[in-house]
Amino acid sequence: ETVPVQAHVAMVPSPGMGHLIPLVELANRLVLQHNIRVTFIVPDDGSSMKPQKKLLESLPEMISTMFLPPVNFEDLPDNVKMETRIELSMTRSLPAFRDSLKVLVQSELTTGRLVALVVDLFGVATFDVAREFGVPPYIFFTSTAMELSFIFLMPELDEKFACEYKDLPEPVKLPGCVPVHGSDLMDPVQDKNDNVYKWVLYLAKHYPSVAGFLVNSFIELEPGAFKALMEGESGFGVPIYPVGPLVQTGSNIIDNVDDHFECLKWLDQQPSGSVLFVSFGSGGTLSQEQLNELAFGLEMSGQKFMWVAKSPHERASNATYFGVQSIDDPFDFLPKGFLERIKSNGVGLLVPSWAPQIQVLSHGSTGGFLTHCGWNSTLESIVHGVPLIAWPLYAEQKMNAVILTDDLKVALRVQVDENGLVGRDDIAKYARGLIKGEEGKLLRNNMKKLKDAAAIVLSQDGSSTKSLAEVAGIWKNQEKVEN
Ligand code: UDP
Repeated sequence: ETVPVQAHVAMVPSPGMGHLIPLVELANRLVLQHNIRVTFIVPDDGSSMKPQKKLLESLPEMISTMFLPPVNFEDLPDNVKMETRIELSMTRSLPAFRDSLKVLVQSELTTGRLVALVVDLFGVATFDVAREFGVPPYIFFTSTAMELSFIFLMPELDEKFACEYKDLPEPVKLPGCVPVHGSDLMDPVQDKNDNVYKWVLYLAKHYPSVAGFLVNSFIELEPGAFKALMEGESGFGVPIYPVGPLVQTGSNIIDNVDDHFECLKWLDQQPSGSVLFVSFGSGGTLSQEQLNELAFGLEMSGQKFMWVAKSPHERASNATYFGVQSIDDPFDFLPKGFLERIKSNGVGLLVPSWAPQIQVLSHGSTGGFLTHCGWNSTLESIVHGVPLIAWPLYAEQKMNAVILTDDLKVALRVQVDENGLVGRDDIAKYARGLIKGEEGKLLRNNMKKLKDAAAIVLSQDGSSTKSLAEVAGIWKNQEKVEN
């Protein structure tokens, strides 16, 4: 009697914690629920990669990691776009990736038969290598069905409109989605002369050749967008599997355990639902001027707050994308006396660089979240039922904010004034409105409904659980057929 060879999946995360975290969660599910082995093949973007390594080291035995050698970016100008740098980390890693994949294919007898390659939305460049070794490529789309729909429609929109999207008089209507104003479409398409715009068109062209999309969203969250994608109206003619919300369950990334203990201890001492959590994700940063407005606004609101503060940027709002940590001590940049005041009157707590976000969002004292609307942060808020103040900064965050405010009605969206700033009075008003106001109550109720829906889709017979089982089944059967 022969023992069946175990199924083995290779995963390639593109740079950035926001891509790695959901892939890790997917890997955990494949191991636990489907007994599939996973190997991460990790491109090195030349940054310290410390948080990535920390997270990957903490994983169970059935998940292994191969790190690729760092890529060289010396030829790039300083102001190169984030998306270009991510894309180049992938393409410049291809020869090393090919070697690693070959090793996995050759060690099938010990590590299991390689049944799929899973990459995120930046991973298109790996497809040819995967096919060379007979491994079908899948995309784990770590954002919304709406964004996937948008990428699908890009070639058509590109032909239809000669102007920049932000100058369109009417909002763009994507099948099954709330209308989106052109200026809220994702960053990479905001300048048609830039290379990243062509890159999105390139994605749209190559997506139809993927074996399937796993999407980190769920049907009840985006019923219209999924219907359009799955029934052909906006799909790539490729199977779509809504498997979300897959969110991190604990913090594996921390090395400043004491800071994190302090966060949670502070939360323990606050009244139920009273604290506004403020964080702009792993990459998000503000200008010095905006940082001041936020500090004063939070103070003026009279609400309790916990703020993950980073040093200000001079140019781009994604300054810590490749590094997570601020370069300088973020607290040096706060208005004079701010830190002392909030410490002495106990209204707020500042956290440097990185907070145990899951523990904070699941804590009973947390009553709201001022977020940059990164999709992971959004899903985590939904899973824990925390209503939002939406303050999108870059990537596709403005599109996410549109879903949260106009469609799901679980967030207040900040308005930028004529100086390009969100003013302190407004910030104070949003904070009070969310934590104490009638509007906040409404948003909280809507969020509670989404939280319940999220729990159901991930339960044993839930739609996302079934969707993942369906792909896992395909992967495992493929193993049987060919052996
Ligand atoms: N995160 C965290 N602590 C922080 C900042 C971020 O644990 O101080 C986690 C957060 O819980 C989420 C991820 O990092 O899982 C950030 O992903 P998201 O898509 O929200 O934003 P990105 O960082 O990619 O912009």
